[in-house]
Amino acid sequence: MKCPRCTTPDLKPTLIEEYLPAMGCETCHGSLVSLLYYRHWAETQKLASTSEAAAEANPGPVATSDTTTAIICPKCVRVMQKYKLTGTVANRVDVCATCDEAWLDGGEWELLEALQLSHELPAILTDSWQRRIRHEQSEGTRRSILVRMIGEDGTSRVEEFKRWLGKNQHKSHVLAYLYRN
Ligand SMILES: [Zn+2]
Ligand SMILES: [Zn+2]
Repeated sequence: MKCPRCTTPDLKPTLIEEYLPAMGCETCHGSLVSLLYYRHWAETQKLASTSEAAAEANPGPVATSDTTTAIICPKCVRVMQKYKLTGTVANRVDVCATCDEAWLDGGEWELLEALQLSHELPAILTDSWQRRIRHEQSEGTRRSILVRMIGEDGTSRVEEFKRWLGKNQHKSHVLAYLYRN
């Protein structure tokens, strides 16, 4: 089986973690993980990190080499589907639903650990997770447009006002007052 990224070197059996086997590439350090093995591993090794505050976690300085081009499943030669990890990191994990295999580029496992998501791959691969990321990103885009127009200070004021307004029982009256001015 050839590395889907370097295409030439053969993938060799390796261990990503204790009890978590994968097929790794010695050149790009990417690895092909069977999601069947992974789910078993994630269930039996639940002790360490859980989902709490996972999405908010700071990724820290983890060097990765995310492949932005399409990855071809080395088993069935179909194009693997890309899944975003969070709204704040660009990395995407490639998955072949047919073979139930995931391709992690070099450093991406370490990134998942840094994000406290190393046990959460099945959740990441769901529609609701991916939808939430798209929502967070569009919120982020709207905010950055506002920052460009009225600056960081102005945006903070707007956000503070919005938080205050959200809790205020006369919200609709305040909004109506603002519209008229
Ligand atoms: Zn490789
Ligand atoms: Zn496949």
